[in-house]
Amino acid sequence: MDDEVPYLLLTPGPLTTSRPVKQAMLRDVSTWDRDYNDIVQDVRRRLVSLATASPAASDAYTAVLMQGSGTFAVEATLGSVVPRDGKLLILDNGAYGRRMVEIATRLGIAHVTIAQAEIAQANPADFERRLAADPGITHVAMVHCETTTGMMNPAAEIGRIVQRHGRIFILDAMSSFAGIPIDAEQWGADYLISSANKCVQGVPGFGFVIARRADLERTAGWARSLSLDLFDQWREMEFKGGKWRYTSPTHVLLALHQALEELANEGGIAARHARYQENHRVLVAGLERLGFRPLLPDAERSPIITAFHYPRDPSFSFDKMYEALKRRGFVIYPGKVSHADTFRVGTIGHVFPHDFQRLVGCFAEVVQEFGWQV
Ligand SMILES: *Cc1c(COP(=O)(O)O)cnc(C)c1O
Repeated sequence: MDDEVPYLLLTPGPLTTSRPVKQAMLRDVSTWDRDYNDIVQDVRRRLVSLATASPAASDAYTAVLMQGSGTFAVEATLGSVVPRDGKLLILDNGAYGRRMVEIATRLGIAHVTIAQAEIAQANPADFERRLAADPGITHVAMVHCETTTGMMNPAAEIGRIVQRHGRIFILDAMSSFAGIPIDAEQWGADYLISSANKCVQGVPGFGFVIARRADLERTAGWARSLSLDLFDQWREMEFKGGKWRYTSPTHVLLALHQALEELANEGGIAARHARYQENHRVLVAGLERLGFRPLLPDAERSPIITAFHYPRDPSFSFDKMYEALKRRGFVIYPGKVSHADTFRVGTIGHVFPHDFQRLVGCFAEVVQEFGWQV
């Protein structure tokens, strides 16, 4: 570990980024300069091609970048693409699904939910039933990888059901896009949302929405907010050659451009997915050997972030474990599940299987140091 990198972030974002990604920010650029706007357009094109399989599908989609953290992009989407007389069906099996419910409530968007336990995976049959029973539902919104638990929801299957019923599908793929292969067209996703500081491995500062052009074009004037107006933001970028409305996060954009170059050099999303899966495998195998138990069964877990139960030992302290691991060069994440005591370890970012081998060794030391029965 060098002085500049005292620890690796094993969190769901911001993530550990590469040195060249950080170095890309050592440049001040004008938002009114062609050089910068061309980079914006290149980033938009690359994002679309990462979300679609064929050039024809790429033409059907377009990218909108939106200042703020990922939630701003989710709020911009829900607040802009659901018409006044529309109605949302929202999946709630974790904190991020619940956040969409809260956004809909605050914005006064009519909505109904499929609410279930955080440890229960979404069931496509529930969506089929709800859509068949309620023709008033115009849009369906759900989280792909619920970062609360690391749960992978069957988004492709649900998306195809939504599409078959002729409704609009909004997918919060915040923590999965670029880490897990997604084909927006195949999955029936009309809006796919992610941000600069998750699996694309950039730094925090903006989110982005990959939108089916034909649907986005219908939404002019629907937004419930000025600064979070998705259509107006898109129109500016699309027709003014990569300009943003309002101050653009120039340094963050340069970092993301470098990060997308590194994603291509790594071998694209398939290669990144394989690395994350290996990170996850090394982590789970190692911690299980020490006696830790993952919250979710193997088939429902994502290679993004993994929740583990606290050890049963009454003397166990998350804070002590956290500090001891931090001294050894790793920052992990507290749990977020309501009914169980858990901690989480992220396996995304500029981190590699050998980092997780070292991490497992550090867990073993810490458990021994405090004498915990795991
Ligand atoms: C990170 C994340 C978000 C956005 O969170 P911000 O803190 O606003 O960046 C939304 N949904 C999911 C599933 C996430 O993992």
